[in-house]
Amino acid sequence: MAAIHERLGLRRVINAAGTMTDLGASIIGPEARAAMDEAAGAFFEMDALFGRASATIAELTGAEAGFVTSSAASGITLSVAGAMTGDDLAAIERLPDASGLKSEVVLLAGHAINFGAPVTQMIRLAGARPVIAGQATSSAGWQVAGAITDRTAAALYVVSHHCAPTEQVDLAEFAEIAHARGVPVIVDAASEYDLRGFHDRGADLVIHSGHKFLAGPTSGMVSGRAGLVRAAWLQNRGIGRAMKVGKEGIAGLIAALEAWRTRDHAAMRRREGAALALWSGAVSGLPGVRARAVPDPTGNPLDRLELVLDPEAAGITAWDLARELMAGDPAVATRDMEAEHGILHLDPCNLHAGEAETVADLLRAILGRARAAPLRTDLHHERRIRARAPAFPGRAG
Ligand SMILES: *Cc1c(COP(=O)(O)O)cnc(C)c1O
Repeated sequence: MAAIHERLGLRRVINAAGTMTDLGASIIGPEARAAMDEAAGAFFEMDALFGRASATIAELTGAEAGFVTSSAASGITLSVAGAMTGDDLAAIERLPDASGLKSEVVLLAGHAINFGAPVTQMIRLAGARPVIAGQATSSAGWQVAGAITDRTAAALYVVSHHCAPTEQVDLAEFAEIAHARGVPVIVDAASEYDLRGFHDRGADLVIHSGHKFLAGPTSGMVSGRAGLVRAAWLQNRGIGRAMKVGKEGIAGLIAALEAWRTRDHAAMRRREGAALALWSGAVSGLPGVRARAVPDPTGNPLDRLELVLDPEAAGITAWDLARELMAGDPAVATRDMEAEHGILHLDPCNLHAGEAETVADLLRAILGRARAAPLRTDLHHERRIRARAPAFPGRAG
């Protein structure tokens, strides 16, 4: 693990943040790695390899068919494109020029998220136009119905902790409204454990990320109705070529899906629970630091440790604690999207043996230091955001 970092002259990173693209997503499981290695030196009839993946995806998701993409993001684009073109090869070659095609995609305002890039941009990449229904704070069925026209190619429903949390139309109602107008429903469930439930609630296509909870290679998985899956897959002869998934990605995802079925999920939960207990113990009794296990916001079967910091009493803000944890070698990455509210989350899903202990030791050391000599960097919020701007190539953070 450390050898490659040394060879490349890079810092090691402990991932207590979750499946983050910025950190390299998640740990690819041993079965997927072995399959990727084997596939790397082999040739395939690629259509047959795609077909084999479809069988595995169908079995796991309960859907009619499936296909492997380079990422969930490209899965969204190709699903939208497929809904626009069907299997019209001439239209597929014309995209993103959508002349003559239905080219509007309805989504809720509270679902127009940024997962690292805007979800609406993944719609536009296909040549479609996002049509927003409702407002960020709430949405209702009549707003969805009112946004659908005879130009609507698809309706996109997003399941994510990034989505607006309250008063949103649920998937079953959303699908019922779309289906009443003959509009297919695409669900972005990139970061969700549940492989079957979205189909049950009316999705026609569901997109999962291969490199999140599935612990597969960098890839995406589209599952759903056979005709729509085929139309999305056919985009590989058009815009999908710019998002190509390779043989190693397909073989790796098949292996990851097969491993998923036999994975000891209960044992993983126990290991994760032990990490949370360790971290919680490391900060317990420290003034200005409250810790508690909180469930995943979209119902994935995992807990994270929430740290709430009172900077006056703790001598450090949540921002600065995250920064200090990230400053060493190994760097420790935390979930800091709520840092401006004094909250940090520690995610236990992507740890190697011994890393939970390292995180606990660092927490103790940094919080101990801050108590003795309060850390006051006092950066304005805006500057903190700017400090997180992309650092390539070699921009000082
Ligand atoms: C992660 C994520 C994506 C993007 O997934 P990739 O496989 O990294 O492209 C899209 N939508 C949601 C909701 C996500 O969480």
